[in-house]
Amino acid sequence: MIKRSLTEIAVMCGGHVVNVGDSDISIQGVATDSRNISAGCLFVPIKGERFDGHVFAADTLAAGAGATLWANRDEVPPGPAILVEDTLIALQLLAKNYLLESGAKVIGITGSNGKTTTKDLVFSLLSTTYRVHKTQGNFNNHIGLPLTILAMPEYTEIVVLEMGMSGRGEIEMLSRLAEPESVIVTNIGESHLLQLGSRLEIARAKLEILAGLRSGGLFIYNGDEPLITEVLQDPATIKPAEFSTATFGLQPSNDDYPTGIMFIEDGTVFTSSKGGDTPFKLSLLGEHNVVNCLAAITVAIHYGVSAHAIREGLQNVVLTGMRIEMVTGVSGITVLNDAYNASPTSMKAAISVLEKMKGFRRKIAILGDMLELGELEADYHREVGKFLANNKVDQVFTYGHLAEYIAEGAAESLDASSIHAYTDKIELIEKLRSILHPKDAVLVKGSRGMKLEEVVEAIKDFN
Ligand code: ATP
Ligand code: MG
Repeated sequence: MIKRSLTEIAVMCGGHVVNVGDSDISIQGVATDSRNISAGCLFVPIKGERFDGHVFAADTLAAGAGATLWANRDEVPPGPAILVEDTLIALQLLAKNYLLESGAKVIGITGSNGKTTTKDLVFSLLSTTYRVHKTQGNFNNHIGLPLTILAMPEYTEIVVLEMGMSGRGEIEMLSRLAEPESVIVTNIGESHLLQLGSRLEIARAKLEILAGLRSGGLFIYNGDEPLITEVLQDPATIKPAEFSTATFGLQPSNDDYPTGIMFIEDGTVFTSSKGGDTPFKLSLLGEHNVVNCLAAITVAIHYGVSAHAIREGLQNVVLTGMRIEMVTGVSGITVLNDAYNASPTSMKAAISVLEKMKGFRRKIAILGDMLELGELEADYHREVGKFLANNKVDQVFTYGHLAEYIAEGAAESLDASSIHAYTDKIELIEKLRSILHPKDAVLVKGSRGMKLEEVVEAIKDFN
């Protein structure tokens, strides 16, 4: 993590030091959360819609923070501080300068689904050969990304940054801050359709990542998605004068595509066009994760990671939690926990995983609302219901008012006795308690706001 004198930090973030006296202060680390203060860190108060972090500055200094950034013109800072115009911009500038000084190379990852998974995969493959730092959890926005950079050890050679967004302009800002040498767009889905209006507009927002790509850099993208090619060729898309491209995806027209996929009990085995005949073994489930792997393998090959190290990295990948994890508890019921979030694309991907699982008595899908889909939300839910019906799932439980449309779509071909719609979580859990059996496989998935992990925890403890 960043370790500098307060005076050096002031220069790096464009502010000036006050309340320090003659001797400088040594700073280690940065925090924006006043509940998360480590000794000697710099507290960065952020002004949000409801709270102004400046009110916590005195407490953070008392709790051990070395100094605080300060942009409050009405009051004097409560202790050692760097005066700045805007604390958020100062945080971003500090991160940018720390990154430039470190000389670390940046890999930027965006897309509608699979960013965190791909980030974890890229990290795992590159870590076999380099000193790598990555976004922790899902810290992918205008605050999380600078914090990720500032948490990076001084000697880092490559930093893998997830870049998220909820509207136009955000990815461009993150990409210009980080100036990546390579960027990945995992796919274009339907997340944030409400804010952006169309899938084309989502593609435009994701390809903003090209705005900060260094000249001569590499753009790796999902070649199965025509909208990416369309936006790439649009003269209005901001991109470097020179860069190369590499595509991945399921179709054989891609630079890297799977030539064979086999699902095994604890993961997936596949071969790819770039990988030759020797199979890759992955401890993750699902075709969509094979596609995420192809993106990661493309990066790894670009940075000279050996074929042997790539295979080792794939086996050792550690994923951020709740992304299609297979879990069991005292109940013995196998749960595919994908409760972290949901959109139509990822819902279908997860249902396909359930469909391909072997050796279970029944396969049961518990699906919650997919939020923020805009005007066509009912249609998107119905479509998932129809997709379910085409797949081999025995029972469907829906949770939430929008998810009732999933039940409606499923009714086209599933028997009515196999479809159960709930809007009360306790009732849902009690019903599940009465019907689930240890030999069942259960998929649990819904938007973050539906908090379906509560259902996962309940199922694990059934007796
Ligand atoms: P967020 O926008 O919340 O940060 P993310 O893009 O980081 O999401 P992940 O956390 O990797 O995505 O995965 C989110 C969900 O999408 C998971 O439930 C996973 O099953 C599904 N998913 C992952 N990769 C893909 C993919 N390539 N295509 C479709 N669905 C995917
Ligand atoms: Mg993520």
